[in-house]
Amino acid sequence: MQSVTSLSALQKTVSQWKQQGLSVGLVATMGNLHEGHASLVTRAQLLCDKVVVSIFVNPTQFGEAEDYQGYPRTIEADCELLDKLSTDLVFMPDEVEVYPQGHSAGVRLTLPDELENILCGHDRPGHFAGVARVVARLFSMVKPDVAIFGEKDYQQLLLIRYLTKSLDLPIEIVGAPVIRETDGLAMSSRNGYLDAGQRARAGAIYRVLCQMRDALQAGDNDFPVLEQQARQQLIEAGLEPDYVSIRRAEDLQAPSRDHQSLQLLAAASLGKARLIDNLHVDLAFLDR
Ligand code: AMP
Repeated sequence: MQSVTSLSALQKTVSQWKQQGLSVGLVATMGNLHEGHASLVTRAQLLCDKVVVSIFVNPTQFGEAEDYQGYPRTIEADCELLDKLSTDLVFMPDEVEVYPQGHSAGVRLTLPDELENILCGHDRPGHFAGVARVVARLFSMVKPDVAIFGEKDYQQLLLIRYLTKSLDLPIEIVGAPVIRETDGLAMSSRNGYLDAGQRARAGAIYRVLCQMRDALQAGDNDFPVLEQQARQQLIEAGLEPDYVSIRRAEDLQAPSRDHQSLQLLAAASLGKARLIDNLHVDLAFLDR
């Protein structure tokens, strides 16, 4: 596996690949890699000839009171895992490489308010603007043909699709399913913040989403009541919910009662960790 930190070294390799007619896939990460990230690499390998994984803890997507400084940085273990997966190239730029004018300067992207400032965007002002900025920059540096993002960050995935379409970038955006622990907890770098007691309770978030899905599939379509019940169950399990919400899967807007393609989304704090998860429900094929 080739490991590079400079843009010039990255572009030298990528342009050689392109001259050979090889397609390039990008998996963008903040490191502290787990099986969720590994699944994206495997998916990229199925779709592309060469796979680049970027590792960069992006300062512009963290709020002032958030965990940028303490975010887990485990470069050695990450490179070992990527090497085992036969990743072609790991790109680990520093901040100057990503933001040559400094991250307080440089161009800003404006995203549609109704997609940016709801759900996680409502609780983390500026977060998705920072994500859009770094993803646009990584796209311009790597110039991938395909980029794989996890459905675990569902709102982020929709915003990246929007960004790519609206800038008319020649990049295919592929969503990959959520990889979970055995109790259903979505794998996340932030799960490492949980102590044993918190970890034992963290599975509640997935359980509650599954119960909402079951109720919807059984024909219950009183969304506000279902959301309120789910919120209460999270509180009883010892979590502090930011939101539990049933939305239209295609654009995360509020669904009408007969809408069939739904996304159930939740975010909750547990100690130092803010956990997010979501589940897709398609009611179109149910025989009711
Ligand atoms: P992060 O390093 O947390 O920024 O995540 C990098 C990429 O991995 C994003 O596209 C995430 O959506 C994806 N990802 C993180 N956790 C999971 C998971 N449990 N399953 C699938 N994809 C994930």
